[in-house]
Amino acid sequence: MTVQAARILIVEDEEPLTLLLRYNLEAEGYEVDSVARGDEAETRLKEQAPDLVVLDWMLPGLSGIELCRRLRARPETKSLPIIMLTARGEESERVRGLATGADDYVIKPFSVPELLARVRALLRRSKPERVADVLSLGEIQLDRVRKRVTRGGRDIDLGPTEYRLLEFLMERPGRVFTREQLLDGVWGSEVYIDERTVDVHVGRLRKALNRGNDVDPIRTVRGAGYSIDERFGKMA
Ligand code: CA
Repeated sequence: MTVQAARILIVEDEEPLTLLLRYNLEAEGYEVDSVARGDEAETRLKEQAPDLVVLDWMLPGLSGIELCRRLRARPETKSLPIIMLTARGEESERVRGLATGADDYVIKPFSVPELLARVRALLRRSKPERVADVLSLGEIQLDRVRKRVTRGGRDIDLGPTEYRLLEFLMERPGRVFTREQLLDGVWGSEVYIDERTVDVHVGRLRKALNRGNDVDPIRTVRGAGYSIDERFGKMA
C-alpha cells in the first residue's frame, strides 16, 4: 500500500528544536515545512493548509495561542489538527491551550518518540489514509492499531521495547542506525541507558522473530549498528 505523505507545518522560533523536529518527522516519512514567526505562519496557513500543525506557544509576531484561536475561527482551518508546544509547569497555559482549541499539547522539554506518537495518533484520527496502520516487510507484519506482530501468520510475542524497536526499524528499512540513534529514537534522548542495552533488546527481538531456519531480517553492521534488511522477503 502506498501512503501519501502527510504534510506537517512546524511553527517554532527555537531553531535547534525546529531542526530536531524536522529531521525526525522527515525520517518518519512526513513532508515538513517550518516557519519561525506566528504572523508568518498565519499568512502561510491562509495560502495552504497542511495536514497537521506543531505550534509553539511563545512566538514572535503572534503568539501560538492567538494563532490557534484565529485558525479555529476560520471555516477553512476550523478542524485543522494542532499540537501545541508549551513550557513545563505552565498548568494554566496548558488549560488555556486546550481552551483555545488545540487538539493536543506537549510539554517542553519532551522526548521525540513521545511527540512522534502524538503526531501519529492525531493524524490517524483526522487523516487515517495518511498513516499506514500496518507495516509489512516480507512475511513480517506489524499492526500499529492492534500492537500485534506476525511472521508468516504466526503471532510474535514482543515486550513493549522490542515492539517499538521493530516498529522503528521497519519504518526505515535499509537504514543503518547506531546504538545511540536507536536509544534516542526508541527509548528517548533524556533517558540514560547503557548502549549495550540496545544489544540485549536486539537479541530478544531476534529470538522472538526467528525460529528454526528462518532468515534473520535484522542486520548487524560491524562498527556501526543495526538495520532491518530492506531486501528481506524479496530474496529467493
Ligand atoms: Ca518559542
